[in-house]
Amino acid sequence: MQSIHTFLGQNTENILKDIETLVRLESPSKDAEAINKVQDALQAMLEPFGKAERIVHQLGDILHVQIQGNSSERVVLLGHADTVYPHGTWKNNWRLEGDRVYAPGGYDMKAGIVQAIWALKAVMNEGQRPNCTIDFLVTPDEEIASHAGRPHIERLATGAKAVLVLEPPHLNGDLKVARKGVGGYRVFIRGKAAHQGTEPENGRNAIVSTAHLIGEVIKLQNLEKGTTLGPNVIKGGSAMNVVCDEVYLEIDIRVWTEDEAARVDNAIRAITPLEGTTYEILDGLNRPAMEPSKGTFALLEKAQKIANALGFNPGAARVGGGSDGNFTAKLAPTIDGFGAFGANAHQKELEYIDIPSLAPRAALIAGMLLEV
Ligand SMILES: [Zn+2]
Repeated sequence: MQSIHTFLGQNTENILKDIETLVRLESPSKDAEAINKVQDALQAMLEPFGKAERIVHQLGDILHVQIQGNSSERVVLLGHADTVYPHGTWKNNWRLEGDRVYAPGGYDMKAGIVQAIWALKAVMNEGQRPNCTIDFLVTPDEEIASHAGRPHIERLATGAKAVLVLEPPHLNGDLKVARKGVGGYRVFIRGKAAHQGTEPENGRNAIVSTAHLIGEVIKLQNLEKGTTLGPNVIKGGSAMNVVCDEVYLEIDIRVWTEDEAARVDNAIRAITPLEGTTYEILDGLNRPAMEPSKGTFALLEKAQKIANALGFNPGAARVGGGSDGNFTAKLAPTIDGFGAFGANAHQKELEYIDIPSLAPRAALIAGMLLEV
């Protein structure tokens, strides 16, 4: 491991250069043309290691590169090419300051992909191969619910020995073994309009019915179990003197377990509307909870051993936000957080990567490639 770590340390400038290349290729979600330019660059970086496959999608291509290992067992490396930032963001925000590089879309998560590519280089530089065959998958739409990426993520995770997600680690550097299931409900609440002055008794007020609904929804929270419900978007009403006949509501849902997801989903759909009004409840959980298995903890132990030899000691974090790891945890032992150490994802002026940790964290990925 020591020579791999040294090789990566000596190449920190080059790792940084590759990160800069990708961050400059800005790739907001839904901009397929821009995302495909990132996929082109990544394909060029990965093709020396294996055969690339591009799956065309209107949200941007899915890039899959398979790299032969010593065995036919497979390990999936998982990343995404899209970012939350519009074009023009890097120009004002990319900057080096001491040990930090401010990189919108770099911390989340182009740097993690680059670190994995350099981990592969480091392994090959030793004249070695990954222990398992690697399915390197980069999806185009993680930031917008992964409708394009999900089928390919699930296809490759099925039967895999492990899935290593290249998103950033927890803020203290811990690896992520559990993520909450995340989703949202869109609700249309409908009543009946009437003149508020002349015949209010003939109206059915959708806002009043929404207030009832929200009261019932909040009762479904279980903070001890980590189940939260956030009615965070509401629109409705046309004029002060018209009994409101339609409200639109969005409710965020987060749960640690599938059981809680099912309990809430059944209950929310069973809420009785106030007389004369209706609830149309759409959607629900988008990403299932990432629940750790026995295999997850065995994988974690391996990662911790490698990290300890490299001089750091990542713990096991459980976090509220979702990632594409949520789709794989049920299919294969999954650990998230093999990407860059830093902070402030989704904050364009503040998102940064810690430069001195690029090499040791990439060496951890290299160790996983050799030992998993
Ligand atoms: Zn991400």
